Amino acid sequence: MTEILVLVDHADGQVRKPALELLTLARRLGTPAAVVLGAGDNAAAIAAKAAEYGAATVHTADAPEFTAQLVVPKVDALTQIAQATEAGAVLVTSSGEGKEIAARVALRLGSGLITDAVDLEAGASGPVATQSVFAASFQVKSTVTHGAPVITVKPNAVAPEPAPAAGTVQAVEVAFTGNAATVTARTPRVSSGRPELTEAAIVVSGGRGVGAAEGFGVVEDLADALGAAVGASRAAVDAGWYPHTNQVGQTGKQVSPQLYIAAGISGAIQHRAGMQTSKTIVAVNKDPEAPIFELVDYGIVGDLFTVLPQLTAQAKG
Ligand SMILES: Cc1cc2nc3c(=O)[nH]c(=O)nc-3n(C[C@H](O)[C@H](O)[C@H](O)COP(=O)(O)OP(=O)(O)OC[C@H]3O[C@@H](n4cnc5c(N)ncnc54)[C@H](O)[C@@H]3O)c2cc1C
Repeated sequence: MTEILVLVDHADGQVRKPALELLTLARRLGTPAAVVLGAGDNAAAIAAKAAEYGAATVHTADAPEFTAQLVVPKVDALTQIAQATEAGAVLVTSSGEGKEIAARVALRLGSGLITDAVDLEAGASGPVATQSVFAASFQVKSTVTHGAPVITVKPNAVAPEPAPAAGTVQAVEVAFTGNAATVTARTPRVSSGRPELTEAAIVVSGGRGVGAAEGFGVVEDLADALGAAVGASRAAVDAGWYPHTNQVGQTGKQVSPQLYIAAGISGAIQHRAGMQTSKTIVAVNKDPEAPIFELVDYGIVGDLFTVLPQLTAQAKG
């Protein structure tokens, strides 16, 4: 059966959840084969995790280039592995780095590229990707007609499901092409202890209705009770109430969690563009005419300072 290569995103020795989602999707298309790059001493543990989620083979490569340089060494490795294995498709997480890697790999392979897929299925002539476009107003199904498809998939496209497989490790020697931007310093991001916004299964977002920076306290309390990430509308971010890195929307982050809770957010088209593919949407807004109620699964008309603490108390049980 055709190998479907999955580039395994990892950090601090842990496999990132979107990589497990890719392995789950890859099983629909052929035989999943994980690609683990620059994992150092953690390579064996990461390979074992990939095997648990269906990787029949785990191609590993390690070299200082993977951490000392941006993107290009991973592109070198993934391209060479795809060529050597005559892979049926290459799947990469739809992060900023993932999309850059995917685009460069597709160019080198002479293949078609599909970005930001929200679902994948097997088709008669290769994988069929579903994309959500024009602020999630339309769903598009696409196939690649030339070369092994290179597809980036948004986090939370599918729930990761274990399916133990052999996970036979194959060490790969990569011929690096050079010409990569070199990392000169690293500053660790201060951790909030909450999940990464684009990967979180649950996101609780606050908007202008939160009223002030301190108002985000009730949003954070609910997020923490649910193990969720915190998002914000641009109005809240522009007011300086929450960091820009947490903005959800057309000019912020695109999220697609299992559950999205919007508190004090009106539902402008630019906000919807970043969250409309969420599986279940809940809004809390004191205005029953707020446009956000047009797209919600559950709407609560009320003051968020009354409603959110009640939800938090319920979540804490
Ligand atoms: C080019 C461009 C790009 C943009 N990109 C983005 C983007 O990426 N993300 C984004 O979010 N926006 C973006 N915007 C801005 C967008 O158009 C809206 O202005 C913004 O989303 C509004 O944010 P909001 O819903 O928080 O505020 P508002 O529209 O002011 O809505 C506040 C809501 O809170 C409710 N409310 C008030 N008090 C309470 C309370 N106590 N309890 C419950 N509800 C309450 C109100 O009824 C109202 O519905 C962009 C705009 C442009 C032009």
